[in-house]
Amino acid sequence: MTGRTKTVALIAATANGERNAAHLAGVWPDAEVYTGSPRDALARAWGECGGIVFFLATGAAVRLIAPLLEDKRTDPGVVCVDDAARFALALAGGHDGGANALAERVAETLGSAPVVTTASDATHSPALDSFGSNLGFRVEEGSEAAAVAAALVSGKEVRLVSERRYPVGPLPENVVRNGVVAPGAPAIVVSDRREDFPRPAVVYRPPSLVVGVGCSRGASEAEIISLIRGSLVGAGLAEKSVAALASVKVKRDEAGLLAAAERLGISVRFYSSEELAALEVPNPSEVVADAVGTPSVAEAAAMACGSELVVEKRKSKNATCAVGRMPVRGRLYLVSLGPGDDALIPPLAREALARSESVVGLKQYVERVRHLLRSGTRVTELPLGKEIERAEVALEEARSGGSVALVSSGDIGVYAMASPALELAGDDVDVTVVPGITASQSAAALLGSPLGHDHCSVSLSDLLTSWDAIRGRIEAAAAGDFVVSFYNPRSKGRDWQLGKAREILLGSRPPETPVGIVRDAYRLTQEVRITDLGSLRPEDVDMLTVVVVGNSQTVVRAGRMVTPRGYLT
Ligand code: SAH
Repeated sequence: MTGRTKTVALIAATANGERNAAHLAGVWPDAEVYTGSPRDALARAWGECGGIVFFLATGAAVRLIAPLLEDKRTDPGVVCVDDAARFALALAGGHDGGANALAERVAETLGSAPVVTTASDATHSPALDSFGSNLGFRVEEGSEAAAVAAALVSGKEVRLVSERRYPVGPLPENVVRNGVVAPGAPAIVVSDRREDFPRPAVVYRPPSLVVGVGCSRGASEAEIISLIRGSLVGAGLAEKSVAALASVKVKRDEAGLLAAAERLGISVRFYSSEELAALEVPNPSEVVADAVGTPSVAEAAAMACGSELVVEKRKSKNATCAVGRMPVRGRLYLVSLGPGDDALIPPLAREALARSESVVGLKQYVERVRHLLRSGTRVTELPLGKEIERAEVALEEARSGGSVALVSSGDIGVYAMASPALELAGDDVDVTVVPGITASQSAAALLGSPLGHDHCSVSLSDLLTSWDAIRGRIEAAAAGDFVVSFYNPRSKGRDWQLGKAREILLGSRPPETPVGIVRDAYRLTQEVRITDLGSLRPEDVDMLTVVVVGNSQTVVRAGRMVTPRGYLT
């Protein structure tokens, strides 16, 4: 390890460069201006910083860094910005040094165009770089990235060898999962075993193993490490796949154990004696039970997070260890798509969709995001009324170790699929909920600012909620003087509820109360109207509409609906 931090050094020589450097330093918490002559500044920054941004001509920058360059795997990433900040060019250390990402970041803040010249570099392909990156995969030494990447980009068959299914996301079509391929085809291997895999291959180590460790007071780091390594080697398991050590709580401050974890670059999970004692293990010990209150530390701790024991207890003089393999957890992304416009699809939703092997949703929603799906993504469209089925299909995919996105319009947590999916989901899948802009928020933006004070939403659909309950809520909203957004206001077969709702609100709000009617917000067929409670005609409203009824303070100013916060009164 070098003494480098993640700090980005900013080095400028001209007035414009200094201004841009100061701007970055002001808005990036991890950036620092290095002053003095560029040569002196660079000399200080080189050993300290993970990234360097020059505000200099490339020629000057190249001359400055030339004597310092050593190894692309360890040198900092270097980005060069021209005096007018038109371009942010990744000059050196594009991949390992992070210069490509840094150039993108600079470009975003300064409004420059990022210039990245490594894109067609055959030793890296997006698929290999990002493969399992969000799952903690680590590349094994001796991997032959160049051969695999060359096959990937040229469309030749690449074999995916993986005993277990991981939620790695969609793969290019020329990647064949555990199938029959041409002899000699390069392979992407995902495994925690040390085996002779077919070559050439890139071997990814998933963080699948947990090593349970027990020890007497004062056991040394060296003894613990050597016991762990010996056990792993003996069982043919990869050290890079060890995600954590595990032990009993009374060992929380055991110096040798903590030092061993630090040396391996992982953490220790501690469990109480009671938690460990509750697990059935192959090799319990009465001596241990008397000492720490559980008949097993190593084996029980290895199994405590639901792991299967793959290496039984092994002992050295002062320590014991056992190895467990954790179950794979699939990923369910609950993805909000916003009201309609592409520009209102959250960036996190785009990311989740690109990471999903499978997308499940109503046809019209899936159609809206097809262009955001990677090639090879499976799509399941299930019609209205099949809500439970949609949730089940998505969960089944996640439970079998896949990565799947369930999509809804607006916000998936608002009258949408997140609730049924999470009612059904167990603790065996990882769930990420991506928030989005709701119909009510979209309508409000188009109307002005009707939600400026306390507000609520009421769905007028009595499919799953009784009219008595809905009426009670509208009455309560009326009594509380809430601004109300009515969802599902009126359908072909259900046409009287909005009229009733209007009646209830008219009981405590004047007929002049402003009402916004927004249909198909942020879609091509968008319609926005402002009327008042007295004139609201339910027949002007359908299921693609949200109706926002103001409170007693809501006004229309310059054609915009505004609910005051109280500053101006
Ligand atoms: N999850 C969605 C709500 C789905 S319920 C959200 O957060 O917005 C379906 C109801 O939402 C429709 O009947 C309609 O009342 C409203 N709705 C959804 N999208 C809309 C849009 N683009 N414009 C107006 N209303 C919309």
